[in-house]
Amino acid sequence: MREKILEMEEYANEHNVPIIEKDSIAFIMKFIKANNVKSVLEIGTAIGYSAILMAQSTDDVVVTTIERDETRYMEALKNIKKCDLENRITVHYQDALEMNLSGVSYDMIFIDAAKGQYTKFFEKYKYFLNPGGVIITDNLKFHGHVGNRSNIASKNLKQLVGKIEDYIDFLKNNEEFETKFYDVGDGLSVSIKKNDI
Ligand code: SAH
Ligand code: MG
Repeated sequence: MREKILEMEEYANEHNVPIIEKDSIAFIMKFIKANNVKSVLEIGTAIGYSAILMAQSTDDVVVTTIERDETRYMEALKNIKKCDLENRITVHYQDALEMNLSGVSYDMIFIDAAKGQYTKFFEKYKYFLNPGGVIITDNLKFHGHVGNRSNIASKNLKQLVGKIEDYIDFLKNNEEFETKFYDVGDGLSVSIKKNDI
């Protein structure tokens, strides 16, 4: 299994696929174990790297994951098969903002797709959390750019970083969720749904 993980890391490196940092996935795997998470919805599969590692956190956690890029989706299916995890990981080839979920809910949602759309993903998918559920978001530091917008030359990058900063404010001001920020990897947040009053 270790070998397959290394192969995925090599592939990601060669093909510029932005897979999660090691410290961050270690944090998430520990979280899944410690909190008895049984079901995860991931937004942004890429090649299945984080989905496979999340599924390996415990013997019984199941992962549903969404990817809109066909090449990456195909690669993810291949990797999941190689790791013998087809019974615990389901991949949907779809745009997460267009997908219709119904009648399902999850203990944990992992947001790791288009950085400019984080608030949209959060607002759409918060309804699919089980009681006490949690939303984890990756890349809140965005390689050190967040909080340092004035040093960025590219207009597009500046705009994207601005959106991540807006998302951080959105989480801080959110009354429905209690969010903690972690300086792990590229920056993670853990947002726990408050108990309904
Ligand atoms: N979670 C992966 C990395 C995901 S990279 C890992 O750590 O291994 C982000 C992925 O999100 C990209 O592959 C991109 O194609 C996908 N993506 C971006 N916006 C999306 C959307 N709206 N719906 C589905 N997938 C999306
Ligand atoms: Mg990421």
